[in-house]
Amino acid sequence: MFEECPQCGETGSTLRARRAYEGDPPAFEVAPPPPPPVTRVATSEPRWNLRTRTAALIVGGYLAAGLVAVLAADAAGLSAAAVLSGLPVPGVVVLVVLWLARGRAPLPAADAEQVSFHNAIWTRRMQVWEHAWFCSACRVAFWPAGALKAGFPASPAVPAHEIPLTIATMAERAYGQA
Ligand SMILES: [Zn+2]
Repeated sequence: MFEECPQCGETGSTLRARRAYEGDPPAFEVAPPPPPPVTRVATSEPRWNLRTRTAALIVGGYLAAGLVAVLAADAAGLSAAAVLSGLPVPGVVVLVVLWLARGRAPLPAADAEQVSFHNAIWTRRMQVWEHAWFCSACRVAFWPAGALKAGFPASPAVPAHEIPLTIATMAERAYGQA
C-alpha cells in the first residue's frame, strides 16, 4: 500500500522513510534521529567515598592532636599561639572545605536519570521516524493520517531542512513529553 504525497498527490513516488534512507542511493533527508550521546553512568557507590572518609579521619585526628597540643601547652604555661603557629591550621581548614564541597557534588544517580531521559526522547523520535513516508519526487517527508496513532491528523509535506525538528515536535505531540 502506498500513501499519497501531500505535495504532488502521486502514490508512485512515495515509500517508507526507512526504505528511502536505506535505499540506493540513500535519501539522507530522512536519516533517523541521532541517538543520544553516550554518557558514562557512574556506579551507585561513588569512587571517592572511601577517600573522603579517610581524609575526614586524618583531618579530624590532626585537629584533635592540635587541640591536645594547645591544651597541653596551656597547662605547661606556653602560649597557645606559639604552638598553633607550628601547625598549618589554614591548610587544614582549606582541606576540610574542599572535602565538604566534594561531598556535595551531584549524585551519580542524576546521571543515570538523565541518560534514561534522553533515551526515552530518542525512542519516541525513532517511533515517529519509523512511521514517516518520503516522496522521492518532491524530496519531502510526510505522515499520513493516523500513522502515529489513531486520530492523529495527517502532516503537510515537510521539506528536508525541517524534518529533524518536525520529528522532535511530533514525538512530543503524539507520545507526550518525556
Ligand atoms: Zn511528491
